[in-house]
Amino acid sequence: MVVSCLHFCNFANLFATIIMHIDNKRNIAILGSTGSIGRQTLDIMAEYPDLFEVGLLVANSSAALLIEQAKRYLPRRVIIARDDLYPTVRDALKDLPIDVQSGAHAIAEAVTFPEVDTVVTAMVGYSGLEPTIAAINAGKTIALANKETLVVAGDLITRLLQSSKSDIYPVDSEHGAFWQCLVGERHDDIDRLLLTASGGPFRTMPRERLATVTAADALKHPNWAMGAKITIDSATMMNKGFEMIEARWLYDIEPDRITIVVHPQSIVHSMVEFVDGSVKAQLGLPDMHLPIRYALGLPAGRLATPTHRMTLKDYASLTFEEPDREKFPLIDVAYDAARRGGNAPCVMNAANEIAVAAFLEGSIGFNDIHRIITTTMERVPYIAEPTYDDYVATNTEARAIAGNLKH
Ligand code: MG
Repeated sequence: MVVSCLHFCNFANLFATIIMHIDNKRNIAILGSTGSIGRQTLDIMAEYPDLFEVGLLVANSSAALLIEQAKRYLPRRVIIARDDLYPTVRDALKDLPIDVQSGAHAIAEAVTFPEVDTVVTAMVGYSGLEPTIAAINAGKTIALANKETLVVAGDLITRLLQSSKSDIYPVDSEHGAFWQCLVGERHDDIDRLLLTASGGPFRTMPRERLATVTAADALKHPNWAMGAKITIDSATMMNKGFEMIEARWLYDIEPDRITIVVHPQSIVHSMVEFVDGSVKAQLGLPDMHLPIRYALGLPAGRLATPTHRMTLKDYASLTFEEPDREKFPLIDVAYDAARRGGNAPCVMNAANEIAVAAFLEGSIGFNDIHRIITTTMERVPYIAEPTYDDYVATNTEARAIAGNLKH
């Protein structure tokens, strides 16, 4: 970790806070600015220069793009997670008034600085947990694109939110849809959440052929343009399991009252069924700009745009079907993990991250992802009420076990 002069920073932060209140722009920290969600968030922010300013950009390893973004948006700070890439980023930005740091602890510290209003958590996987907790403890608004944070430690995050002034807004099309369907409704009136799924690239493929599909096959998502990890999660339907757990915590609904509905056109982004039998749906193009725009607009209101409009006659046929739970057994693995609670979803997530990385490298087959996850879940001891340290230890242990199951 590289730390700059703390006293100077604190003074500068105080000054920045005063300036922010004068010009009233929301200062946004983007964790994962070089990924798919991060890049689209920057595009949207650039459309509303009077509303937003970029305060912090964080990337894991894409140093060249991070440097390019820093030169264009001139944030106060940039952080590259990988320490070995720090000299490259520092040297490239040395003539600009940008504070450059590296390492996970620098990220968790920077999200708490006073000038930051909203933290967009778009890092991949478990790495989003620590900075999200730090941001909640500092009372920041969270635009949550890192669903793994709620999968791993939803109970802990929920408890922290209760004692913080922090609000959490989902940057996920399904959860943005639930949010919109639930505006003005009473929690007691919800009967169930209907979580839509595209079904991914293998929806119509015979089950026997899944053993031989490659990462390139799985990366051809029919509707959504997303990062590699989530696209593989979408192909296995683990992503839908994660989203069920994400919804369970965001909307305080038990897993068995969340139903997955396959909807290949990805136009209905999700639905809520109420106790009187009425169903509300939210529709839109399958484009992540919509949920990002909605989350960035909250709580004030929607961000108007002339783009991203759908023509209903182009979508004359919307179809719905049940998911094939035999072909996609990770759906039931996720429901089981959600019902067990404790550290079970954390183990599932860690094993999934290792297995997906191995599949992307070509070192395991598609069906090995399920094998590695279920075997890891059998081997890591169950903890009913994990502390933060238990989650950290569980994640480390599950990764080690899953790593040994790759061959
Ligand atoms: Mg989604």
